[in-house]
Amino acid sequence: GARSAPAYLEGLNPEQRRAVETTEGPVLVLAGAGTGKTRVLTTRIAHILAQGLAWPSQVLAVTFTNKAAREMKERIGLLVGGAVEGMPWLGTFHSIGVKMLRRHAELVGLKSDFTILDTDDQIRLLKQLIQAEGLDDKRWPARQFAHMIDGWKNKGWGPADIPEGDARAFANGKGRELFTAYQNRLKTLNACDFGDLLCHPIRLLKANPDVLADYQHKFRYILVDEYQDTNTAQYLWLRLLAQRRVSPHRQPVEERGETASPPLRQAQDEGLHRSPASPLMGEAGEASEAKLIRVGETGGDTPPPLTPPPHGVGGGPNGAPPNICCVGDDDQSIYGWRGADVDNILRFEKDFPGASVVKLERNYRSTAHILGAASHLIGHNEGRLGKTLFTEAPDPDDPKVNVHAAWDSEEEARAVGETIERHQRDGHLLNDMAILVRASFQMREFEDRFVTLGLNYRVIGGPRFYERMEVRDAMAYFRVVCQPADDLAFERIVNTPKRGLGDASVRLVHDYARKKGVPMLAAAEELVATEEMKPKPRAALRDLVQSFRRWQELLDNTPHAELAETILEESGYTAMWQADRSAEAPGRLENLKELIRSMEEFESMRAFLEHVSLVMDAEQNEDMDAVSIMTLHAAKGLEFDTVFLPGWEEGLFPHQRALDEGGRSGLEEERRLAYVGLTRAKRHCHIWFVSNRRIHGLWQSTIPSRFLDELPTDHVDVAEPPSSYGGYGGYGASRFDRAEAFASTRESPGWRRAQANRTEATSRNWGSRSGVAVERIGYGEADSGFGAGRGSVK
Ligand code: ATP
Ligand code: MG
Repeated sequence: GARSAPAYLEGLNPEQRRAVETTEGPVLVLAGAGTGKTRVLTTRIAHILAQGLAWPSQVLAVTFTNKAAREMKERIGLLVGGAVEGMPWLGTFHSIGVKMLRRHAELVGLKSDFTILDTDDQIRLLKQLIQAEGLDDKRWPARQFAHMIDGWKNKGWGPADIPEGDARAFANGKGRELFTAYQNRLKTLNACDFGDLLCHPIRLLKANPDVLADYQHKFRYILVDEYQDTNTAQYLWLRLLAQRRVSPHRQPVEERGETASPPLRQAQDEGLHRSPASPLMGEAGEASEAKLIRVGETGGDTPPPLTPPPHGVGGGPNGAPPNICCVGDDDQSIYGWRGADVDNILRFEKDFPGASVVKLERNYRSTAHILGAASHLIGHNEGRLGKTLFTEAPDPDDPKVNVHAAWDSEEEARAVGETIERHQRDGHLLNDMAILVRASFQMREFEDRFVTLGLNYRVIGGPRFYERMEVRDAMAYFRVVCQPADDLAFERIVNTPKRGLGDASVRLVHDYARKKGVPMLAAAEELVATEEMKPKPRAALRDLVQSFRRWQELLDNTPHAELAETILEESGYTAMWQADRSAEAPGRLENLKELIRSMEEFESMRAFLEHVSLVMDAEQNEDMDAVSIMTLHAAKGLEFDTVFLPGWEEGLFPHQRALDEGGRSGLEEERRLAYVGLTRAKRHCHIWFVSNRRIHGLWQSTIPSRFLDELPTDHVDVAEPPSSYGGYGGYGASRFDRAEAFASTRESPGWRRAQANRTEATSRNWGSRSGVAVERIGYGEADSGFGAGRGSVK
């Protein structure tokens, strides 16, 4: 008989519900931001489990970040009224790939306890191989090759697959050879790199049809969030697993206690009833699943155990359509620069014929103003699928999107800090606020400001500014200069950049220092006067010691930021990153510049070091109420009541490198990033731009981002300097002068127009703007940077 809908379905709109309840066959949910795609996925899993269509271990669910995976598990638990402990195949592509690989490592020539190399290991290894080939590793940097290998692996390519042109592009045509040597070496080391975590599974599934068939059978339901940002390898892996359903009589690769058949649907058809008090998984077959699911304590009586039905439910004959559900939004594809291919979502219906396509059009997240602003902005992109989005009718109390101007980034940080405090006074939690930056170097100013204000913050998806590798390296140099006894700092940089002082040399210095009871720098100075070291390292060490002594002499009579720059240059540290061709290098150079810039605000290098140790000491724990700071890339899928979007200036956002390298499509990806940023906000959205940024130690006036011109005036409030600043309080008369200066340095005709005449539709500005030569503001090739490192999103 008809039973009332389970509680977890309540509140879904009809389309969402269709996407949840269409469990059989392929489903694509293609919908704009905040329409409930992730919620649909979560509810769908809950539904599958609650209906007993599959064991938790038979559901493959891919999220974009580990954080998203954790949240999804939690919510499923809430929806089905019990803690879901066993969703072993819910995670990121990488975490699932590594799990699969550990099970079958031997099939690709590894042992199951293989290690995963980090980027540094990978580069060290490649460098050895490059040198072993008799090649000059300065001309053919290992980092550059690592980057190429990454790109190939994103496409699912092994050494045999790379096109001639690609193979020729490195090391005088030895690209393929080196790639092969690298893979062989990894095998000998029983190791793999990040890219292998997916490439190996693809290879092993292809080469072992029986294993593939097991998994195809095992994963009764496949779900993928953020499908628009899958790369080719991820796509291939998914397609392998989902391509067809194999005949279900096979015994699948089993988890402990798992039966070949889904537990409950059959039972219901046969008239078995679940206890209404226990919404999850029924009780049938539960004993064997106790490890995987803990049902709410209400699940009392235990019906007889199920005998597995002869055929898996939803299995069907060979070639039956797979139960795959992908959700995504083409307007939020923001990882093209890392190999993601939005076409994957566009060809879903071709890949999976007969797919149900569900459109969700109601946005539940944002106010009409925020949605209006975001929709209008993204409307400037060509080649969109085009989706309708609506939300509740605007509430007259809803604030518009606020655009603010600041003189420079310091003032921007101060104003953001004040706005945060104002929201806090209005009763908002810091947890509900986020600052989303385009490039990670922007974080520094906010972190410093918040430490001064005593505002808790956390950096999501990456280290805090002063914890970044390059910043720590640089700081280590400064520490040795200011505090010659700082052995930890000395050890950190004694061979960074590489100067031929390997472990043996460092140990020698270390032991000598111990013996004499002096700091390592002093020990090194004595050592180089002896015969104890081989001539080459001795010369290198002597050079380093002399440099430190020279910098120490300069300490009291050179402007300290200038000295800092000198140190990084003379030590070869800056040059090391300049020579580096990896994707992260430009961002690291930006961070180094930002570090030096920030130093100017302090009286001396020592005062600066002290400040940093205070910042580093600032508490970071999960439970505290804190503002989140992250890159726009890391913010995908998240939502906050209040969102701050600083740095909307040409060259920074859109980022110069995206424009230089990506042309029109680069610009469009930047615009999608802006769309992602805006649509994170539920209620308050504050955009900032500054009129001056200090670049290469020089003040440069900047041009407000073209994206500002692309915001619709009727959803946007422009804080017009100087009068609008009165609203924030705390700005004295000097504020006025700055605003004057601000007005005189602004150079964007588009912006002035928007400001002067807010009733005008701004979309037309795009046309006039595209012909305007945009002044370069210094984010050139060498120092343009992208904030999101690889670690932040996997
Ligand atoms: P994004 O594209 O940014 O990832 P999304 O489409 O995944 O967004 P969700 O994060 O799933 O959207 O949902 C956005 C917000 O709307 C969430 O707070 C969610 O709980 C809420 N929401 C979704 N559907 C409904 C609904 N039917 N009723 C009420 N709130 C809903
Ligand atoms: Mg989502």
